[in-house]
Amino acid sequence: MHQPGNSVYDAAVTERPPRPPRAEPREIVELKQLRTTQPELASAVDMQIALVDMQRRVQSRVPLPWLSVDHEWVRAQLAGGRPVVRFRDIPIEWTDFRLTFRQTADILRRHDALERADYDTILTVGRDERQALELVVATWYETTSGVDAADANAERLPAGAPAALDQVLLLALRPFLARSVEAMAERTDLTAWTHGNCPFCGWEPDFAAIMPTAERRLICGRCIAQWTFPSLTCPFCANDDRALITSFATRDGRYRVYACDVCRRYLKAYDGRHAPRPVLVAVDTIATLPLDAAAIQRGYLG
Ligand SMILES: [Zn+2]
Ligand SMILES: [Zn+2]
Repeated sequence: MHQPGNSVYDAAVTERPPRPPRAEPREIVELKQLRTTQPELASAVDMQIALVDMQRRVQSRVPLPWLSVDHEWVRAQLAGGRPVVRFRDIPIEWTDFRLTFRQTADILRRHDALERADYDTILTVGRDERQALELVVATWYETTSGVDAADANAERLPAGAPAALDQVLLLALRPFLARSVEAMAERTDLTAWTHGNCPFCGWEPDFAAIMPTAERRLICGRCIAQWTFPSLTCPFCANDDRALITSFATRDGRYRVYACDVCRRYLKAYDGRHAPRPVLVAVDTIATLPLDAAAIQRGYLG
């Protein structure tokens, strides 16, 4: 508390130089620019800024896990088409996870990305006793990662849970999972990985980046890891008949869609071949929302 007459204290306070404003992360700066240049995306941009901001804060609190990597095991997993981040490798601090889970649901609800009834049900999942939420998260991860093939047949979500729980779990787990991927990435040789799903957490790609070398990297929709995949092969059904891949670009050439005429799914990409910056997933997925509409209009499925 301020003590009047305490000159030493006053001097200390007044002489402290003003704290320089902290530089905003590039993603936030670019999202704000996007809101100005494409005001029709404003509500999606605002939700993304809230999510990015929260996830950055959480991720900075999560320690980089010390994972003892068994190289033989990793090699065998990848060769067998099984990802390498086990649930126990994710450094989850449960009090923090519970908070992140609730804040994620709050952000989605506030931006109308979550129905009221679903939001209420999801909050009860988060409020359940500690072990119940742990079990929900562990089951969801184990059934969707494919790290251990034996887990694949269980139900991914608890009975009666809304499908929207998927999205809340995905976003809430991301900052923790991303730390494990960070710890694994440098020590994992992905050359043997030829699959369309993520070599770390098994999830589907949600976006892609075309590198200046023209190789295409898929970007995981759950942990944001990247891996190389043939440009004209569908990551969802492995169709590699070029005649059955439809590709179209935005007028400025910055973004591209690859759509599969076999399974009807599509993937958006940032074309980094002539771009001024590398892909920024948090920005580029929002900037390309009009492309989703274009793809869906052509009869493809997101
Ligand atoms: Zn992943
Ligand atoms: Zn396909």
